[in-house]
Amino acid sequence: MARRLKKLLVANRGEIALRIIRSARVFGLKTVAVYSAADATSAHVGAADEAILIGPAEAAKSYLNIAAIVAAAKQFGADAIHPGYGFLSERPEFAQATADAQIVFVGPRPEVMAALGDKVAARRIAVAAGVPVVPGIETAEISAAREFAALVGYPILIKAAAGGGGRGMRVVAEASQLETALEAAAREATAAFGDGRIFIEKYLAHPRHIEIQILGDDHGNVVALGERDCSIQRRHQKIIEESPAPGLSAEMRAKMIDAALKLARAAGYTNAGTAEFLVESDNFYFLEVNARLQVEHPVTEMRFGCDLVCEQLRIASGGKVDEPAAPRGAAIECRINAEDPEHDFRPATGTVLHLRVPGGPGVRFDSHLTSGAEVTPWYDGLLGKLICYGADREEARGRLVNALGEFSLLGVTNNAAYLRDIIASDQFRDAKLSTHFIDSFFSGWRIGGPEIDAAIVAALITAGDPQAETGALPQNNNQRRSPWDGLGNFELWGSRK
Ligand code: ADP
Repeated sequence: MARRLKKLLVANRGEIALRIIRSARVFGLKTVAVYSAADATSAHVGAADEAILIGPAEAAKSYLNIAAIVAAAKQFGADAIHPGYGFLSERPEFAQATADAQIVFVGPRPEVMAALGDKVAARRIAVAAGVPVVPGIETAEISAAREFAALVGYPILIKAAAGGGGRGMRVVAEASQLETALEAAAREATAAFGDGRIFIEKYLAHPRHIEIQILGDDHGNVVALGERDCSIQRRHQKIIEESPAPGLSAEMRAKMIDAALKLARAAGYTNAGTAEFLVESDNFYFLEVNARLQVEHPVTEMRFGCDLVCEQLRIASGGKVDEPAAPRGAAIECRINAEDPEHDFRPATGTVLHLRVPGGPGVRFDSHLTSGAEVTPWYDGLLGKLICYGADREEARGRLVNALGEFSLLGVTNNAAYLRDIIASDQFRDAKLSTHFIDSFFSGWRIGGPEIDAAIVAALITAGDPQAETGALPQNNNQRRSPWDGLGNFELWGSRK
């Protein structure tokens, strides 16, 4: 069954496209990038061996355009397509169109993806495999919903069967809201996903989100690469992820890994995937399987010393997965987004005027950012992921706090200072983790230190010192090589030590 792949088309953009291209090259493949009109000068375009414009800025006409992407793969003679995450990565029709064109899809088979992509169908697979799920009912019928809510107690959570990415969920706090909430949820699901099916779950009060990384091959082998704790979320979207999950007992970890493997086997899962669970006290409940590479996969890579994209390519080439070596140390990732944490996380756009990338032992920055890059409003605002590894959690955390302090990006408002405050906090240090962490400890966060418009600082820097663009770290006082020195103790967050 071994297939020798030669050329990979990467059906994505941003940091993940660049990250996949890098690994594909190491794996020995030629690469083809696709890009929209808004991304012509994007880093992934320059990084690939070949690149093709597939459509205008609107994702629906470019990165979501199955026909254009498959045609591009054929035109360039690509024998495999990697979908990345987001966009078409979990669309069975894309995997099918790729297979129909005799091109290898780097992911699970379309029918497996279809079964798992539907939250109701995935719940059924879990139940049949003996994996615990959040108590729930698969109906939107009002009297059954009332009965269920009376049994488990409010609040309850209405979910869209086709939902994803934190969308299509609605918390119902009390009985009087139930009927209108059911109707609105079904209506919204139809509008957002073209599928109005909804189901209801008990809303867990203080869960942690813990997920298991799995890899499966075409020979029936499935292995797990430990867990990631992704409890630090804002509006059900992850912002900080780590591995191992602090305080998770070996027994609980073993049970969750066993459940994830059972699920993967029951679904006939191949390639990289993630089984997501909620954990509350001594119980864990299956949430869903994400049939793709996750944004937060680097924390697993750093502990296991592996490259998950290369593993995906090996599996796609017909290779076998092996039991992983024992993991070491701890890794924490945070997502640097183009958004304004002081103004309700409003999305930000702009031109990167100055970028200083942190470094040092155990520091990794996965990003497509470069000086002069444009951040447009067309796509999600992920600018990069900063990941730190350490012998233990405290070392990883200390490195990440430092790295976020070194990181500086002017011209595009972002959440780096916010992330730094969270990761430096006593609550995070003490791992008081739950999906309500942000609401409990960081609602109403304001930036510390003087309020100086970043654009003014950027202008000062570029006008005042030609060396600024090198992004050099501050030197000692005699040298005054960095314009930051001219700003005294000013930092975009707090004062410099
Ligand atoms: P999506 O596919 O949109 O990411 P998930 O089902 O994976 O949705 O859930 C995303 C997040 O929503 C979880 O990590 C958790 O914070 C919250 N959530 C989901 N289901 C529940 C539940 N039953 N009780 C409490 N929180 C939940």
